[in-house]
Amino acid sequence: MFINGKWILRKDLEVFNPYNLETIGYIPSLSREEVREAISIAQEYKDTMKELSPSKRYGILMDIAREIQRRKEELARIITLDAGKPIRQSIIEVDRCIGVFKLAAFYAKEMRGETIPLEDGIILTKREPVGLLGAITPFNFPLNLVAHKVAPAIAVGNVVVLHPSPKAPMAAIELTKIIEKVLKKREVPLGVFHLLTGRGEIVGDEIVRNENVNMVSFTGSVEVGESITRNAGFKKITLELGGNNPTIVLKDAPIDRAVKSTVRGKFLNAGQVCISVGKVLVEEEVAESFIEGVIRETKKLKVGDPMKRETDVGPLITPESAERVENLIKQALEEGGKLLYGGKREGNIVYPTVMEVDADNILCKVEVFGPVLPIVRVESMEEAVEISNNSIYGLHAGVFTRDIEKALWIADKLEYGGVIINNSPTFRVDNMPFGGVKRSGLGREGVKYAIEEMSEIKTVVIKLDR
Ligand code: NAP
Repeated sequence: MFINGKWILRKDLEVFNPYNLETIGYIPSLSREEVREAISIAQEYKDTMKELSPSKRYGILMDIAREIQRRKEELARIITLDAGKPIRQSIIEVDRCIGVFKLAAFYAKEMRGETIPLEDGIILTKREPVGLLGAITPFNFPLNLVAHKVAPAIAVGNVVVLHPSPKAPMAAIELTKIIEKVLKKREVPLGVFHLLTGRGEIVGDEIVRNENVNMVSFTGSVEVGESITRNAGFKKITLELGGNNPTIVLKDAPIDRAVKSTVRGKFLNAGQVCISVGKVLVEEEVAESFIEGVIRETKKLKVGDPMKRETDVGPLITPESAERVENLIKQALEEGGKLLYGGKREGNIVYPTVMEVDADNILCKVEVFGPVLPIVRVESMEEAVEISNNSIYGLHAGVFTRDIEKALWIADKLEYGGVIINNSPTFRVDNMPFGGVKRSGLGREGVKYAIEEMSEIKTVVIKLDR
């Protein structure tokens, strides 16, 4: 952990490689008292951060991006070792992270306000930082989801206290070393950034409840997100939560594209992606050819050691997660689901699994967060929309059709934060507004949109003596 420019190294919690369960390191587990102390130090640096010029913030963010670029391969290996993500996917995560810091650098200089004319003067608006941002992140994109909070926070001039997931904290630790190096080089006090490791129920919870924290930016499960809405008190919050993201395949869909995009979107990071395909709703007329294609493409996936370049699907993050997914498959079968492919588990690896189920099957209701693809046959696009909206979630939906009228009708009707036409829901670029409705979240990320969330508009009214 890194507090007020000092590293505190304790061996309180073990960190495991999810593939072979070997210990790869240790992290300190902070007490509530230690977190309170760190937050109280951090809030003293709010003015320092606010007063940094846009070009200084631009310089810091560009330096961080360059340093990540220089250490790209090493960081990708750390993600794979720590989170079990297949190495090719980890490299993409690092590349995206570089892009996020560069985008934030751009926006650091583009923080514009508005002018509103008055008869006897003018109104100016400007964006000001919220002050102290508490960032809490999950295990599944352990570098880029940290970047999505830290980079916009620096761009707008916030102090940050970061709690990374203890299931995969190593990439955040390396990023902190990079930030430390850059802040020293740019002669910015190190108290503007703190890394607080430990258990979420203590460290995360204290960040959420602490009155010196001005905003909590959280990415993680719906359950923890809901507890944050109850515990945060009078502060801003953004919540990027889970989903069960439908993919609707209409009878006029480009089937080959739908098949490949669905298989990629489902099995990326072994299904541990918030916008992973939750269920496919396919029109009866094309169901056979779609299912055949999905099984054909799924069979091609290489499963195993995430460090090998050929691996497509690696382990789940913990034995408990793998067991949970295995139990969901069992329950889905008990509820009448048909196993079409896979269904096997070895240690933390659950093999890519394809099932045909009814719309009320457990797999269509919960966030599985594993490599299981449930397929449901539907009679019409209206039925597909009805099933999609009959959910507590509303993150992303994918729609495959060649008919633009149908695509736009569905996009209007779906109660989701993002609707992706002719791609699975597993699509995100880092400059688009990203987030969900219903239980999938509150607020938006995507650098420019996160900056808006992490800042306040100050209105300056100038009256003139005319
Ligand atoms: P999680 O269990 O909710 O944990 C997320 C973070 O919250 C961890 O750092 C966790 O620490 C901490 N935490 C736990 N209890 C807390 C509390 N009471 N107060 C404050 N913080 C607390 O989620 P996860 O298993 O790491 O990640 C998977 C989930 O994240 C999935 O549901 C996925 O959909 C969601 N996700 C959403 C997005 C998005 O952008 N919408 C992106 C990625 C992931 P501990 O691990 O110590 O509990």
